[in-house]
Amino acid sequence: MSNATAFSSLKLAPALLGNLSDIGYVEMTPVQASALPHVLAGSDVLARAKTGSGKTAAFGLGLLNKLDPAFFRVQALVLCPTRELADQVAREIRRLVQTIPNIKILSLCGGTPIGPQNASLQHHPHVVVGTPGRVLNHLKKGTMDLRDLQTFVLDEADRMLDMGFTDELDAILKFVPKVRQTLLFSATYPEAI
Ligand code: ADP
Ligand code: MG
Repeated sequence: MSNATAFSSLKLAPALLGNLSDIGYVEMTPVQASALPHVLAGSDVLARAKTGSGKTAAFGLGLLNKLDPAFFRVQALVLCPTRELADQVAREIRRLVQTIPNIKILSLCGGTPIGPQNASLQHHPHVVVGTPGRVLNHLKKGTMDLRDLQTFVLDEADRMLDMGFTDELDAILKFVPKVRQTLLFSATYPEAI
């Protein structure tokens, strides 16, 4: 393993680095090695890599590294095209912080009752992972606000556009601060992106 692909070469919080070694992540995948230095530097990043290449940690470590656990506001939002993908992303992000206490990650997807989601939102998640329709629903009703958002992630951005989520995404962006980090991950680069 070269130094350039070791997670320890990154400017990552020691707790995150320690957890990575606990879960057996030693070497970065190629998309992680090329994206993470920019993600951690706070830049907006547009990354393309095929399925299974480790994109979740490429944005997940970036948003987690910036989180302030003592600030009880939604600091990062990850939008995914389907509930299954959102569940996978939430699971992977939870794994990336599994030995770090007091970080709350909430899934907000359609096709599940809204009442329990309203209750979970009152427990101050730091990170929300969801599908566009349900996230917009909470924003419009005022059950969630994103005024303190630091990181906005579109995962599988190409599929999101294919599935016709453009209007929802535009509407969600109206609730998000203009000054924020935007990370876009995709398997292809459609023109519209
Ligand atoms: P993608 O979003 O690109 O399809 P995922 O983020 O879902 O890929 O990652 C695919 C699999 O690889 C997951 O099981 C994840 O836990 C694992 N993985 C990701 N990065 C690493 C790494 N650096 N070392 C070992 N396993 C990893
Ligand atoms: Mg993925």
